[in-house]
Amino acid sequence: MLLASAGNVPFWSTLVRSVGGLRPANLPLLLGAFSIIALFFNACLTLASFRFIAKPVLIVLVFCAAGASYFIANYGVVIDKAMMQNVFETDTREACELLSWHMAFSVGLLGLLPAWLIARADIGFPQGLRGLLVRAGIAGGSLALAVLLLVLLFKSLAPAVREHRELRFLLTPTNTIQALHGYLRSKWRTPLVVAPLGRDAMRGRARAGNGRRTVTILVVGETARAKNFSLNGYRRETNPLLARQPGLINFSRVASCGTATAVSVPCVFSALGREHYSDTRAASQEGLLDVLAHAGFQVLWRDNNSGCKGVCDRVAFEDLSQPAPGDPLCEGGECHDERLLAGLPELIRNGTGDLVVVLHQKGSHGPAYARRYPSGFGRFGPVCTTNEFEQCSRASIEAAYDNTILYTDYFLSKTIDLLRASAAMEGVDTAMLYFSDHGESLGENNMYLHGAPYMFAPSEQTHVPMMLWMSDGFSGRFGIDRTCLMARRDQPVSHDNVFHSVLGMLDVNTAVLNPKLDLFRACTRTAS
Ligand SMILES: [Zn+2]
Repeated sequence: MLLASAGNVPFWSTLVRSVGGLRPANLPLLLGAFSIIALFFNACLTLASFRFIAKPVLIVLVFCAAGASYFIANYGVVIDKAMMQNVFETDTREACELLSWHMAFSVGLLGLLPAWLIARADIGFPQGLRGLLVRAGIAGGSLALAVLLLVLLFKSLAPAVREHRELRFLLTPTNTIQALHGYLRSKWRTPLVVAPLGRDAMRGRARAGNGRRTVTILVVGETARAKNFSLNGYRRETNPLLARQPGLINFSRVASCGTATAVSVPCVFSALGREHYSDTRAASQEGLLDVLAHAGFQVLWRDNNSGCKGVCDRVAFEDLSQPAPGDPLCEGGECHDERLLAGLPELIRNGTGDLVVVLHQKGSHGPAYARRYPSGFGRFGPVCTTNEFEQCSRASIEAAYDNTILYTDYFLSKTIDLLRASAAMEGVDTAMLYFSDHGESLGENNMYLHGAPYMFAPSEQTHVPMMLWMSDGFSGRFGIDRTCLMARRDQPVSHDNVFHSVLGMLDVNTAVLNPKLDLFRACTRTAS
């Protein structure tokens, strides 16, 4: 209780602010959040409650909490990996500057006094098997109660924590432990070497074809879930334009690799597949874009999101997420996805080689769905316009989300129109492959947003849209049979297929291509 309250003044003041102030209506939520944290700490501490262990652990934690709280409150610092590095690698002069009577008093009051009380306290520890069972019971019970409260309060807490990521670093002593762990891990980690992949990649005979260039656009969606696409049978007409795009192939059963951008994006561009994926493994090996570059494609990543998570490190990158003054596509400090198409026709016209462009959308990122689309796309309503979900009905949250899908429908359709026009005017063969990184929960089982552990993740978070469009020249030159792909569009596939299918679609020959995962393999006429 002491750890959760006195040691965490900055955490609570930020949480109170992020749920909309200290109002009577917010009291149940704040009390609930407090109980969750107190129960969680209780569960952890119970596991350490053995004679000779309990007291030292408690005293160290109390001091950590007191020190961290003091620095957060007085310097506004964030306790993270970098901060730990400062603490351990600082010189004495710098350290002395930070010491003050105020600090001594604050840490003394919050640390020394409780530590003294703990040291003096006469704690009885239950012994033997009964003792172990009692501890397991207390820890399990506290944890279960904390999880139950978390489920009940998820709708209100999730947006607050999502919008205020700093909360994670404000909760002591977990921030100190987490930061220390991160610091030691990065200190002892061997330096990252990126292993080459697919250096043997060569474009096949189809590229020689008629001497025409190819332009392929990969659209990486954000937080779009398959369920809310009318192409997949959703009750609202969220895909009016894509439904009228001739030749569009919609894959209806696609599973994502992760439930968060930081997992799905590196995973989908790696050759690892979901089973073998880990962030370090993906970061220490080249990916799809590198293989395409080895095969001689010019590769460009255009971003309207928070970067490419390392997958475009060795190819050209354009950040289009920062609003330019006077750009009508930008409002409120961010830009709508159409901006990703700016200058693209010229780029295609003036290009010399075969081009692969990745467009990374802002898409349907929450919780502020209503900010993700221009006002003309507010077709469904009434919409939730705040990121404080407890003030909105489920229906208004979903309506705002559906408008983001309506805007993505427009964006994708416009991308296809652009590629069709380029194919006709510039004599290039063009194609677009779109897939979303992960889905989103919109209140099903009281879950919101995304990021659930994959094993327990609901299908709303893992079932993603994917679609393909090819110009006639493109499918003709690569011998891709549209009818054959159409017939297979309802088969279960996943992000694991993307790496191999993009290489297969572009007739890239390399030993790293696994034909079993290439969706085009069965539908391509081999050049005679
Ligand atoms: Zn994402």
